[in-house]
Amino acid sequence: MVYQCQDFSYEVMRKRVKHMTIRVTPKAEVTVTVPLRCPERQIREFVAAKSGWVRRHLAEMEKKQVIFVQDITFGKVEEEELLALVRAYLPAFAPYHVMEPQIRFRRMKSRWGSCNKTRGTITLNKALCMVPQECRIYVVVHELAHLVEMNHSAAFYRVVENVLPEYKNYEKRLRQYALQDEK
Ligand SMILES: [Zn+2]
Repeated sequence: MVYQCQDFSYEVMRKRVKHMTIRVTPKAEVTVTVPLRCPERQIREFVAAKSGWVRRHLAEMEKKQVIFVQDITFGKVEEEELLALVRAYLPAFAPYHVMEPQIRFRRMKSRWGSCNKTRGTITLNKALCMVPQECRIYVVVHELAHLVEMNHSAAFYRVVENVLPEYKNYEKRLRQYALQDEK
């Protein structure tokens, strides 16, 4: 069911859950998950209470620059640029005794990079060639830090911050870009 709350619409999904949750999807759709027997009035009140957060979130998404993953041209030059960043930041991880990872490149629509600590591989999104250098640096450092800490714990961010003290600004800048697979 799709409902309306002032200037945005939202979809209500009834599930076996205890509490109501609201989220904004990457496609800027608002979904509310509610317990099976939750009265409609309660849902409306809940959404009204969260409407400020939803509007801020939607406004932020509108500002995002969309990168269409299928349109990217990624060749040897782009690959070399990213590998150079890995080589530049790897020495900063020497105190953590990380092994030199194997770097792979892929077109991905949901993330900028991933790391498999066990295999020692890092996959970087080819879309990185479309974002500013500081965003690339952030992703490279983030994935290298996963060779130390696999999760996104406080300890993980301490590693990131050690290597890249200004990482929060870089990360914020990266959040201005959204990946999409087709037009
Ligand atoms: Zn991560």
